[in-house]
Amino acid sequence: SVDGAVLQDWVSRFRDEVTEQKDWLTELDSAIGDADHGANMARGMNAVAERLAGGTPETVDELLKTVGMTLVSSVGGASGPLYGTFFLRAGMTAGAVTELDGPAFAAALRAGLDGVIARGKAEVGDKTMLDAMVPAVDAFDAALAAGGSPAEAARAAEEAASAGRDATEPLVARKGRASYLGDRSAGHLDPGAASTAILFETLADALS
Ligand code: ADP
Ligand code: MG
Ligand code: MG
Repeated sequence: SVDGAVLQDWVSRFRDEVTEQKDWLTELDSAIGDADHGANMARGMNAVAERLAGGTPETVDELLKTVGMTLVSSVGGASGPLYGTFFLRAGMTAGAVTELDGPAFAAALRAGLDGVIARGKAEVGDKTMLDAMVPAVDAFDAALAAGGSPAEAARAAEEAASAGRDATEPLVARKGRASYLGDRSAGHLDPGAASTAILFETLADALS
């Protein structure tokens, strides 16, 4: 099952990995945005780590909501409110429990995704983080439905997210700053899809 320790491990791995990949994420954003995605993600996740170092929330919802609120308040860019909404909505759906079984965790991920869609009003194919997040959550659900464990479902989600990230390269952006470039946004990976692939990679690592 997915408990507070697993979720803390996920958040800590995500922080480490976005910090490690900070320059690459920023390089992707320098091609089609304003060259701050790596800095935004690293700053946000470092703020989360500091916040959690001050005391571990007892329930899953408190932990996820703390992550979400910290991202919303510490990241100025589009990605802060979007990732913040993901964790906030996941927490609201998880409820005040100390652990989630596979289906309950899947429902939390789905609620997080729906929150990002509601907030950003983007669709798959618009060259955003949703191009990685939608297939990842779909793959998580499909793997669970096929009898997989949460760890197996997370591996399937990781693969789907990285395929979704790669598929953003030829696309023309229709949302966010990259859309200001029009056709010139084609030929580059979307930075938010790249960080979302990291989100699901680190989830798979935390669950394995
Ligand atoms: P900003 O664009 O404000 O500088 P970031 O560089 O941190 O913020 O994040 C940019 C990423 O945010 C994009 O690569 C894209 O994946 C994602 N994004 C932007 N707008 C939207 C949206 N409306 N819906 C979903 N994701 C979006
Ligand atoms: Mg940016
Ligand atoms: Mg910016």
